[in-house]
Amino acid sequence: MKKFSFVKLLVLLVAIISLPQVVSAQKPEYVLVIHGGAGYLSPENSSENELTIVKNGLQRSLNAGEAVLRAGGSALDAVEASIRMLEDHPAFNAGRGAVINADGNIELDASIMDGSNTMAGAIAGVHTIKNPITAARKVMEASPHVLLIGEGAEKFAGEQGIEIIDPSYFFTEGSWNEYLRIKETQEKDGRKGTVGAVALDKHGNLAAGTSTGGMVMKQYGRVGDVPIIGAGTYANNETCAVSATGHGEYFIRNVVSYDISALMLYKNMSLEDAAHSVVMEKLAKQKGNGGIIAVDKDGNITMQCNTSSMYRGYVKSTGETNVLIFSK
Ligand code: ASP
Repeated sequence: MKKFSFVKLLVLLVAIISLPQVVSAQKPEYVLVIHGGAGYLSPENSSENELTIVKNGLQRSLNAGEAVLRAGGSALDAVEASIRMLEDHPAFNAGRGAVINADGNIELDASIMDGSNTMAGAIAGVHTIKNPITAARKVMEASPHVLLIGEGAEKFAGEQGIEIIDPSYFFTEGSWNEYLRIKETQEKDGRKGTVGAVALDKHGNLAAGTSTGGMVMKQYGRVGDVPIIGAGTYANNETCAVSATGHGEYFIRNVVSYDISALMLYKNMSLEDAAHSVVMEKLAKQKGNGGIIAVDKDGNITMQCNTSSMYRGYVKSTGETNVLIFSK
């Protein structure tokens, strides 16, 4: 009798000790990861005030997306809600506050993808659509196409009842001063980044979206990786959802987001290893600067960049959450 209770006690102790691992290994009900762009910030070259503004913006975006997921909403709705928040925030290179091109204008790109059916929508080179991510979603849901550009995209968005505004809305004092500074210094990398979000919802569906003003001082008409499905954005329920940020030309040539998914599917690699191989090895070797955020179908996340900083954050149904700036 005595021996029996000792064994029982031992079993109970082992169960209690291993409980935290069991709980954290469980698939979270929902996951949201966001980014506000990769760059070359360091604690030395950034102000506390600037970082606080960025962190608050990321937190608001996480809150908006998480509210959708907690209520049982779709990954697609969460991604759109999070990105809209960042587009409206002047601290990021998307929507209001986007970077200015070589001609002194703003041209916005965005895309979104639904992992449940691999449908996708994107727009490029627009300057009157207040929330490009919403227009990209409309292309996916209300047109037979994947990518609309320029005036055609704007005409379509207007017909679909999407908010159209005067281009002056996008210009902020900050982005104009940044434009003048970069024109003067010929600096290659601006201080602001593209925005993106990936999510897994309670129904097991994945989605990804990305929105940007592109590269600072880009040539008029230049389109980056963001609206190119498979380059800047990719989602597939069989593998993962990915949103990228960085030097777009490299991300297009390496089909970065799709490559991560393909490595998982064809080579059975984990999300972490697949992203590492693409961002930290393949891209880094070519000096293709940038990073990605991703979530896989089991709720594992990764946020990897080969630059010194990437504005990023995540939240899981388990309560785990964080907002980060520097890579180390
Ligand atoms: N990938 C974006 C582009 O090339 C820029 C960025 O992520 O900062 O347009």
